[in-house]
Amino acid sequence: MGTSGKFDVIVAGGGPSGAAMAWALAKRGINVAVIERSTFPREKVCGDFVEPAGLRIIARMGCGEALGLSERPAIDRVRAYYGPHIAYQNDVAYYEGEAGMPRHGHIVPRDQLDHGLLENAAKAGARVFYGTSVKSVTRDGEMVTVGTKTKNGSGELTAPVVVGADGVQSVVANAFGLRRDDKRHIGVSQRVYLEGVEMDEDEACIWFDDDHYPGYGWVFPTGGGRANAGMGMLSETCERFDISVQQCFRESMDRLKYRHPGCEKATMMTKPLGGAVHMYGAIERNHFAGGLLVGDAGAFVDPMTAEGITQGMESSIIGSRTIADCLERGRFEEEDFARYEHDFRSYFDHGMLYLSFYATMMRNRHFGDFFLSMTRQGFERAQHDREFARVSGTGFGGCNVQPAAMAAQIWSGIAAHIAEGGAGAIQDLVAGRGMPLDGFVGDWNLWQSAWRASVQDDRAWHMSWLSDIVRAASKLGPSFTQRENPRLRGPFETGDGL
Ligand SMILES: Cc1cc2nc3c(=O)[nH]c(=O)nc-3n(C[C@H](O)[C@H](O)[C@H](O)COP(=O)(O)OP(=O)(O)OC[C@H]3O[C@@H](n4cnc5c(N)ncnc54)[C@H](O)[C@@H]3O)c2cc1C
Repeated sequence: MGTSGKFDVIVAGGGPSGAAMAWALAKRGINVAVIERSTFPREKVCGDFVEPAGLRIIARMGCGEALGLSERPAIDRVRAYYGPHIAYQNDVAYYEGEAGMPRHGHIVPRDQLDHGLLENAAKAGARVFYGTSVKSVTRDGEMVTVGTKTKNGSGELTAPVVVGADGVQSVVANAFGLRRDDKRHIGVSQRVYLEGVEMDEDEACIWFDDDHYPGYGWVFPTGGGRANAGMGMLSETCERFDISVQQCFRESMDRLKYRHPGCEKATMMTKPLGGAVHMYGAIERNHFAGGLLVGDAGAFVDPMTAEGITQGMESSIIGSRTIADCLERGRFEEEDFARYEHDFRSYFDHGMLYLSFYATMMRNRHFGDFFLSMTRQGFERAQHDREFARVSGTGFGGCNVQPAAMAAQIWSGIAAHIAEGGAGAIQDLVAGRGMPLDGFVGDWNLWQSAWRASVQDDRAWHMSWLSDIVRAASKLGPSFTQRENPRLRGPFETGDGL
């Protein structure tokens, strides 16, 4: 027998985004189905790190206990390597316990996290179809039909609203012409589970290597001598410079044994697997007649850290408001879902466009020495300057991004110059011309030689990169005009009834 039925909303994909969406809709009394192709336990390629803002949502959804969070190691420290040297080993200075967030993150392997969140949605009233793949999505009149496949055969579900929560290869995004494949905004990675690890269980480790730029590696302890380890890079760079991410991963794992004393005897307990993320820089319209996209399907991943579990759940809580509104009004055209874009931009743009601007600058591999030197100096300063660490971030997820304060800490003179000079000043910056260097954390000579090397290597690409920077800078309005990052207070609103 195949799957069939009529619902108010069909959610394609049961990762953290799909489960949070289903929970938020079911809590409002909406008849919602989730279609998840996997049966559990299943592996999902991820670092498994859930930052404090994600834990806050999990607590609100009431499933922290079911996920066994209190028994898992609480991560509140980070160690950052540049090559063999530790640039930072200290607490995550911006885990301050504000706005209902805990002062730590947890590593929750995704087979457990995703299954726990889905079961929680089912408990709230959502119908979850496991082992069922979405094969087609079509809209006729005001109804969406989702064609499904299980090992027992094909089926059809119908609803006025469909949600694409089906990750980077989203069938729903594809069906509505919103699939993203711009390699400038795609991260590619490999990860594995290790055993025989002797790390402090409250300390995560990240590393940066010049031959794996732009990208970084991680090893996150999951407890019991095990860890999640991997590395990721920008897809565009891999393609331009013919770099194999699998090869980089192997090198990273070899180096890890020498780099981190706790990993000297570590062995791989699973097969390394590859994955990809779509970052917020690629964000565009995420709604269509009959529904919307959330999580990785909609490109909500942090452009600097490539984290997306929290962002996916946040996009779903925000999107559920639009869907409830459309159902109440009985209206399902594209313009009826437009509130979603307004709402997610009001929430995410402030911090994410700023991070995206940095990520755009860091895309140029010729500038690797400059940015690695700059971020290393930042980590070293953070080690003894707690205010700098708190505001600028210590290279780990969940930072309460405060663009104005960060700019003032990292490159105050340059930031002021850009604020006054707009696009012209950005061009000066990239060309290394006449910049005021007071308050600047970085090596200006490295910037200038990188610029020359980039032009010589590929002038056309260099110019397109420059125009991407100017474009990213021109979108920075919300980053500087709002005083507080809206993500700090979380995605829930009074009146949501959640
Ligand atoms: C190597 C790597 C490391 C990462 N590390 C971290 C980290 O440490 N912390 C963090 O916050 N983020 C991390 N991320 C990002 C994070 O994994 C994603 O942002 C997050 O999984 C997005 O959740 P989602 O629910 O939107 O999509 P997904 O988690 O991809 O979920 C989509 C779901 O849809 C299902 N599905 C897909 N297609 C279909 C279909 N046709 N029919 C039915 N079901 C379907 C899938 O089985 C899956 O369960 C990492 C990503 C990678 C690749």
